[in-house]
Amino acid sequence: MENLKLKTIRNLDPKDKRVIVRADWNVTLGKALQVVDDTRIKRTLPTIKWLLSNGAKQIVLLAHLGKYGEGKSLRGVAEYAQILLGQEITFCDTVTRCHAATGKIVMLENLRMWKGEDENDPKFVKELTSLGEVYVNEAFGEAHRESASIVGIAKILPAYAGLNFATEVETLTKVINNPRRPLVVIMGGAKVEDKIKLLEVMSKKADTLLIGGKLANEFLTNEIKLKGDAKVLTPVEGNNLLDIGDETRSLFVEEIKKAGTVIWNGPMGKVEEEQYRAGTHVVYEALVANQEAYTVVGGGDTLAAIRDERHLSRIDFVSTGGGAMLKLLEKGTLPGIEVLE
Ligand code: ADP
Ligand code: MG
Repeated sequence: MENLKLKTIRNLDPKDKRVIVRADWNVTLGKALQVVDDTRIKRTLPTIKWLLSNGAKQIVLLAHLGKYGEGKSLRGVAEYAQILLGQEITFCDTVTRCHAATGKIVMLENLRMWKGEDENDPKFVKELTSLGEVYVNEAFGEAHRESASIVGIAKILPAYAGLNFATEVETLTKVINNPRRPLVVIMGGAKVEDKIKLLEVMSKKADTLLIGGKLANEFLTNEIKLKGDAKVLTPVEGNNLLDIGDETRSLFVEEIKKAGTVIWNGPMGKVEEEQYRAGTHVVYEALVANQEAYTVVGGGDTLAAIRDERHLSRIDFVSTGGGAMLKLLEKGTLPGIEVLE
């Protein structure tokens, strides 16, 4: 993990090339299908602009929305993105139509309209590769998946990491392998099976592990013992909580105050309900109050809970990858990274 050497677009001369860019525009849509949160779109724009200003002939955007079988269209997202970008995006609903499109920026319909995407089907990969001459991955949030647009294309075309992708990998690799200590890792939320393995790794890497949320309930109920040397704090109020209590909050805050680095994933309570948000809020406030610490936060629900408080900018690094961030911290690499090394 120490030596992840990514090929980034800085190693690429895109002049006169058709560049396939895998973007992560799997954004949250509201009731009227409007884009509620455009962070992921915004974080891909520097790469698109860089490629254009360095002479790329065409950019072919690939992205997904939702799951296979849901049939969600990316058209609305493309329309929204072209306003942010200040440039027209030609949207096409088949690979063949994308081929024929002459616009500077074209975008293919939701990759998950096709079964071949998740299955990394060679036939689908071949169709996609025909859309360009080089490939750029700017979808860090998808790098843990072995799909056609993440792994398949990259094995065939010259493949590079986008700017945000590279920053994600660099930052997360550094905070886990070479953090300013003490490293305090805060974990909560609900995806318990996913997170238990990461807790095991963190117990060896971190100095202090603060466990809250539903994760803590399960952790305590199942009497899980971690092998590492980290000091582990769990809610003192018990294992049947919808939020961490006052005493746990104070204990967690004390540890966060002392941190040199903080990594946080997962809300401390059932944050969708107002009365269970206080624990998460207290943790957030302690984290940003520690000016000395380098702070990293990721996870869809964690960020949604903070975003409401309009405080994201006070965090040093906000990861665009939920599952991908957790998997990278756990494993040290990801399928989508390996194909770019
Ligand atoms: P993230 O998306 O940030 O990785 P998760 O998806 O793992 O986080 O978990 C977020 C969910 O966990 C939220 O829907 C929240 O309501 C739920 N949750 C957290 N703590 C509790 C709890 N104590 N009881 C019930 N649900 C909880
Ligand atoms: Mg989640």
